[in-house]
Order: sequence, then structure tokens, then C-alpha cells
Amino acid sequence: MIAHTRNPSMEPQATCVFGPVHSRRLGRVICAELVPHKVCTFDCIYCERGLTTRKTIMRDMYCDFPAVVAEIRDLLHFEPDYIALTGAGEPLIQGQVNQLMQLIRTVTDVPIAVMSSGGLFWRADVRAELMDADIVLPSLDAGDNATLQAVNRPHARIAVDDMIDGLIRFRRRFKGRPIWMRTTLVGGVNDTAQSLDRIRRAVRRIEPDRLQIRTAEVPSMESSHVISPDRLERIVEYFGENTEIIDEAATAERSRGFRALAAVAG
Ligand code: SF4
Repeated sequence: MIAHTRNPSMEPQATCVFGPVHSRRLGRVICAELVPHKVCTFDCIYCERGLTTRKTIMRDMYCDFPAVVAEIRDLLHFEPDYIALTGAGEPLIQGQVNQLMQLIRTVTDVPIAVMSSGGLFWRADVRAELMDADIVLPSLDAGDNATLQAVNRPHARIAVDDMIDGLIRFRRRFKGRPIWMRTTLVGGVNDTAQSLDRIRRAVRRIEPDRLQIRTAEVPSMESSHVISPDRLERIVEYFGENTEIIDEAATAERSRGFRALAAVAG
């Protein structure tokens, strides 16, 4: 069973706490969506949430933090492995996420995971706030700006070198705690030899604990954009150690009764 609660006092509806969902990456998860659909730094061509309606890098207060914490507390009897801060867009558009994490810790010691597109890691305030997380899961789909534009269609202020530099800086500060990066590959867009080489070089500089690779599988996309399992295996070998495939579609199928986190995480 998935419990699903919404905060009725917020206008527009910004906060959504639900769960448990099953995530191959994290296990049993209670999700707190921090931003409304679809406020995001990106407008990824593979997004399962449809087109971005507000592309922004401006952080704001969308959540009523005490209400979010109360909703999380109501779902703790499901004994989640993680509380995941996510969004129907980029969760870190929500400001002061460190305060939210501190409040969550007043009701539970379940570890807190933060999902992100990675599009705001160039901001020092974002990196500082994330120091309160237990695990951070940023994405990186490109190692050069042309590919970033093609895959993620970012806000005009976002450049790939700034993203990578911010992730490197964050890695240095977030010592002893895991960073699991995710790369979504779209056939014919960011899976060329040159694109893969640039992503690999960026990942090696960032030094995450894991790199999790998946292929885009959105019904609206052409089949040529989907990369075969064999090819994904070869790409994982190319990237080297600490790299794995995540098959979130298969996870959703396996985990009958659970909503797939892939469909809700930014
Ligand atoms: S996939 Fe994530 S980062 Fe990309 S547009 Fe959708 S919500 Fe935003």
C-alpha cells in the first residue's frame, strides 16, 4: 500500500509526501517532493514528468517545513530505509533544505537522501545546505555544453564546467558520506564515443562513490533513443569500477505494489 498525503494549506500545491516506494537505488523510501510540477533547472528530453513549465535557478520557499515533517512522521510506521527529498522538478530549487533536514531529524533517525539534477551544485549555498544529508544522488548526463543543451536543455545560466566544478567541490567537503551519481544515456544524443569520454573524464574528476547508468525509456521517445542491455554493459565496462546499470523500469515491474522512484525523482 502506498500512503499519499498532501499539504492542503499551501497554494499553489507545492508539497507532496508519499510512500513507501521501492527504489533500486535506495530500497524502501518515503518521498517528500519539495517543488511543484514542474519547476526545474532543466527540461530534459527524457523527462518522465513532461515539459518544464518554469525553468529557473531562483531558489524559493515552496514548502511548509513543519507540515512536511508531520506528514513524514505519519508514514514512519512503514519503516523506510531512507527519507528521500525529491521533486516534480529540481528539489534544490527549494531553499534552506538544511533546515528541513534538521527538522526531519527531530522525528526520526532514518537517513536522508537528496536527489538532484546536479544543475545547482555550482551554487555555494546549495553545497553548504547539502552537508546535512546522509547521501546525495546528483545526475550528470553530459561532459560538454553542446551535449548538456541537447539532453538537459538547461536554464541559460547553467554551464557544464560550473556543474562539474561544483560537484568536485562538494565531493571534497562531503567526506565519508556517499555520493551516488546517475547518468541517463539517450541513444544518438549523449552516447557517442566523444560524449561518453567527456562524461567519464568528468566523473573521474568528481570521484563519486558510485556511478549508476541507465537508458532513457520514456514512451514518447523513439526506440532509437533506447540503448540495448548489451551496449549498456559495454559502457559500464568502459567507465570502470564503481559503475553499474540501474534498470528502474525493471525495478518497477518487480516491485508490484510499489510506486517506482524513477518516476518521481528529479
Ligand atoms: S528529468 Fe529531472 S532534472 Fe530533468 S527535467 Fe525532469 S525533473 Fe527536471
